Amino acid sequence: MIFVALGANLPSQFGSPFETLHAAKKAMQRREITIIAESQTWLTAPVPVSDQPWYHNEVVRIETALSPYELLEVLQEIEEEFGRVRTVRNAPRVLDLDLIAYDREILNKPALIVPHPRMHKRAFVLLPMREVAENWEHPVMGVSLNDLIMNLPQDQQAVPMEEAAV
Ligand code: AMP
Repeated sequence: MIFVALGANLPSQFGSPFETLHAAKKAMQRREITIIAESQTWLTAPVPVSDQPWYHNEVVRIETALSPYELLEVLQEIEEEFGRVRTVRNAPRVLDLDLIAYDREILNKPALIVPHPRMHKRAFVLLPMREVAENWEHPVMGVSLNDLIMNLPQDQQAVPMEEAAV
C-alpha cells in the first residue's frame, strides 16, 4: 500500500485549500497515479504551533507503476505547478505533498526517506491515514497505526472538516 499526504493552508489559483486539495488529486490522477481510497478532509492546527491558518489535510492510498523516486518527482512537479514557493521550513503553503509510505520499502536517502521521517509523530497524517489504511504497520518501528495514534502527543488539534462545520 502506498500513501500520500496532502496539506494546504493558503488559497491558491484553484481556490480555497479544500478546492486546492481536490485539484491536486485530479492532477495526481492525470500522471499515472490511481487513487484507491481517500480520507476525509481534516482541519489541523499548524505544527509547530503558530498563528498561521489551520491546515486542510488528507491522506490518499494510491496505486502506481512509478518507483518511489519517480513518484516523489511527480509530487514535487505538482507542488510547483500549484505555485508553491519554497521559503523557510514550516512556512505556510498552498500545497504540500508528502510520500508517507511505499509498500514496506525502507529508504534513507536525504532526498527521500520512506516511511516519512515525521509521519509517526503527526496527528495530521495518522488520523486521516487510519481512514484508508486498514491493518497498516510501520515497517521500521514494527508498530501498528492504532498504536502510533495512541502514543501521539495530546497537544495536536485535528478535527474532520464535517464536524468542524456543525
Ligand atoms: P517539505 O518542504 O517539508 O515538503 O520537504 C521536502 C523535502 O524533503 C524535499 O527536498 C524532499 O526531497 C525531502 N523528502 C525526504 N523524504 C520525503 C518524503 N517521504 N516525502 C516528501 N519529501 C521528502
